[in-house]
Amino acid sequence: MRAVVIGAGIVGLTSGLALRRAGIDVAIYEHAPEIRAAGAGLGLWANALTVFDDLGVGEQVRAIGKPSEMYFHDAAGRLLDTPEFGVEDHRFLLVHRATLNDLLADAVGRQNIRLATGFADYEEHADHLTVRLTNGSEENADVLVGADGAYSTVRSRLVPGTPAQQHLGHHAWRAVIPNPGVPLSEDRLILGAHGCRGGYVRTHDGSVYWLVNQFNTPALTGTLKQQALERAAHLEVDGNNTILAELIAATPEEMILHNQIMLVPPLPHWVSARVALAGDAAHAMSPHITAGATLGIEDAALLGRLLAPTGDVRAALAAYEADRIPRYAHVADLSAAVEHASTPQEFARNYAAFSHWMITAPGENRVRA
Ligand SMILES: Cc1cc2nc3c(=O)[nH]c(=O)nc-3n(C[C@H](O)[C@H](O)[C@H](O)COP(=O)(O)OP(=O)(O)OC[C@H]3O[C@@H](n4cnc5c(N)ncnc54)[C@H](O)[C@@H]3O)c2cc1C
Repeated sequence: MRAVVIGAGIVGLTSGLALRRAGIDVAIYEHAPEIRAAGAGLGLWANALTVFDDLGVGEQVRAIGKPSEMYFHDAAGRLLDTPEFGVEDHRFLLVHRATLNDLLADAVGRQNIRLATGFADYEEHADHLTVRLTNGSEENADVLVGADGAYSTVRSRLVPGTPAQQHLGHHAWRAVIPNPGVPLSEDRLILGAHGCRGGYVRTHDGSVYWLVNQFNTPALTGTLKQQALERAAHLEVDGNNTILAELIAATPEEMILHNQIMLVPPLPHWVSARVALAGDAAHAMSPHITAGATLGIEDAALLGRLLAPTGDVRAALAAYEADRIPRYAHVADLSAAVEHASTPQEFARNYAAFSHWMITAPGENRVRA
C-alpha cells in the first residue's frame, strides 16, 4: 500500500511515521522549502506522549522537552487549585516546535519527504487515487492524508465551503527567548481580567516561552510588544505576577509572534473512500485548551492503526471518521465550557476537567495498538 501525506507539520510527520510503522510506503509533500514550524513552544500532553512511545520515539521526544504543569494563578498571585483532579491531569511536556518537527522528520526518513512541492488536486478511482502536485507531477497512491493545516487545500477539495474562520476577537502573542535575563524560580500561568490569560514556562535548554492571549480583544494599536504588555497588565494586581511584563519587555520586537486565532468549523465528514483529513486541516481549534497538536497526533496514530498494508482503505477511513467526529464534538463542548467560564477559578476547574478527559479513557486506549 502507498500513502501520500500532504503537509510536513507535526501531524503530517507523525502520520508519516505511524503509516510507515504500519508497513505502508509513504511520501510526504510539503510546499515550504524546508521543514519548519510556525510558532514557539508547544505543550504535549500524556496522550501525545503515549503515541510517541508506541511509535518508538517517546524517549527522544522527552529528551528535547521540559516536564511542566498546567496550574493557574489569578492576577493577585493566588493558586487556583483544582483538588478534584490529580497531578497527572496537569502534567505536560514543553518542547520547541521546530526541534520536534526536525526529530519527527528524521524518524520518518528525510528521503520520504519532498519539500517545495505543494498539493494541487486529486482524483479518486475505483482502486487507487491520483494526486496532482504543484510542480505538475502526479503520484498514484492508495490513500491520501490531508495534514496541511487550518488553511488546508485538501479540505477545500474534500469538503468545499469550509474555509478557516476567525475566532472573533481572539488573539495570541508569544515568544521563546533564549537568555531572558530575568531570574525565574518557577513557571506561572495566570488568568486575569478582560478575557486575558498568559504566563511563562521554562524550556529544557534554559530559554523561556511566554504567551499572552485575549478573548474579545478591542482594536489593536501600537507595536506587538506594546500590545502584549497591555494584556500582561491585566494579569497583575498589587505588584503580583510582574515577571511576565519583564519578560515581554526583554524580548526583541522581531521575536514576538502574533496570531488572530483561526478555527475550522465542525465538518460533516472527514473522509472519502481514499482521502482523510488529520490535525488542524480537520479541526483547527482555539488554543486556550493548548491541545490542537496533541489531538492531531492522536489522529495520526489512529490512521496508522486502522490502515494496514493489504487492508480495506474505505473501511479503515470510515472507522477513523466514526471515531474522530464524536471525539471532537466532545472536545468542542469541553473547550466551550473553559472559554465561557465566568471566573478564573471556574476556568481552571473546567480546564482540568478537559485535560483529565483527554488523557484518560477512552482516547488513550483507542490509539494504542
Ligand atoms: C497560539 C497557539 C498556541 C498553541 N499551543 C498549543 C499547545 O501548547 N499544545 C498543542 O497541542 N497545540 C497547540 N496549538 C495548536 C497547534 O499549534 C496546532 O494544532 C498544530 O500545530 C497543528 O499541526 P498540523 O500539523 O495539523 O498543522 P500545521 O502545523 O499548520 O502544518 C501544516 C503543514 O502543511 C503545509 N501545507 C499547507 N498547505 C500545503 C499544500 N497545499 N501542500 C503541501 N503542504 C502544505 C504547511 O506548510 C505546514 O508545514 C496552539 C496553537 C496556537 C495558535
